[in-house]
Amino acid sequence: MALIVQKYGGTSVKDVDRVKHVAQHIKSFRDAGHDMIITVSAPSGVTDKLIDMTKKFDKRPPTREMDVLLSTGEQISIALLAMALNDLGIPSVSMTGSQMGIMTTDAHMKARINYIKTDKIRKELDAGKVIIVAGFQGITEEGEITTLGRGGSDTTAVAVAAATGADLCEIYTDVDGVYTADPRMVQNTQKLAMITHDEMLELASLGAKVLHPRSVEIAKMHGVKLSVRSSYETSKEGTFVVNRDQLEKEFVVTGVACDQKVAKIGIFDLEDKPGSATKVFQALADANVNVDMIVQSAMRNNMNDIAFTVPLDEVDNALEVLHELKDKMSMSDIVSSTNVAKVSIVGAGMVSSTGVAAKMFSVLAQNEINIQMISTSEIKVSCIIEKENDTPKKAMQALHDAFELDKING
Ligand code: ASP
Ligand code: MG
Repeated sequence: MALIVQKYGGTSVKDVDRVKHVAQHIKSFRDAGHDMIITVSAPSGVTDKLIDMTKKFDKRPPTREMDVLLSTGEQISIALLAMALNDLGIPSVSMTGSQMGIMTTDAHMKARINYIKTDKIRKELDAGKVIIVAGFQGITEEGEITTLGRGGSDTTAVAVAAATGADLCEIYTDVDGVYTADPRMVQNTQKLAMITHDEMLELASLGAKVLHPRSVEIAKMHGVKLSVRSSYETSKEGTFVVNRDQLEKEFVVTGVACDQKVAKIGIFDLEDKPGSATKVFQALADANVNVDMIVQSAMRNNMNDIAFTVPLDEVDNALEVLHELKDKMSMSDIVSSTNVAKVSIVGAGMVSSTGVAAKMFSVLAQNEINIQMISTSEIKVSCIIEKENDTPKKAMQALHDAFELDKING
């Protein structure tokens, strides 16, 4: 008998039929004698709809009120699931984040979990109940409702698993695991049996929206046994997210990813003196712009050019900030392009092998794909390339083929 935490995503609970399906699946675990804690997302589309409603106001609504609104989506799912389990004769209890005591920081819409109260959980588990907790939400010490950022239900599940010392945390979603690349973009992709936390984090930051990044960080920090699997084909093995030393086999490259929601910004002729970069990037940070891939050119005549990428939906905001700055400090021009994509290769084994970046560049060159910017980490190489003409798709397929990811499973 084990303590298992399961999370079901929005599509898994999108209507009452699907909720009944989930209840059946939970019953099979209960029948096998396991203690169960379930986290659910809002029915698919509900959070988006709530956000759309708030766009009709002239002013951007206070984030506190956004959280009061957005937290209602998950409340629908927990109640329906408790009713479905009731139908099957399985005692259960639904809890909002505040009812359970998921204690967070007060950063509305992007709160972080500080700790989780486990007294109620223990009591209800001892009483033989399945616990159903609303994902994505928590409460501050002052009693304010918070949410954890889009996709945050994964983080609720892993944090609950960490707090209760659960034996396993399963994330049920609409894909049956983590693949070597997005199967909609690339042919001959393979499902990975295992992936390291660090690889998963890199892939998540590259736009592979399988898991909320914070959930992977918590799993790594607390050694939570984590798996991603399909809520439709529940008999299929998913992908385990593990520590590097738990890998059965390590690969130099395990995945190819492409983020098409980026934009490139260049600033020309910044004065080459201490403080220039600070002014630019502090101003962007103050405006909540997420900056990635910063490249500063070699200086000439005491002038520097700096290029960087930002998320596509933050480019207007970033340009506004920079144009304000242009009047205050020396720079000759600001340019931007939204015709860019970031293609990356990721692999835990990259740390200990050479020539990986060179091979990536040569594959792109052979396919006549120009590299506009490059950045690397210990386990990742990313290149900015053009987005038009299906170039991202072509690049991904070429890299997937060249690194033989189609043969990764033997
Ligand atoms: N319902 C929230 C969202 O759509 C949280 C989640 O699904 O994980 O972002
Ligand atoms: Mg999700």
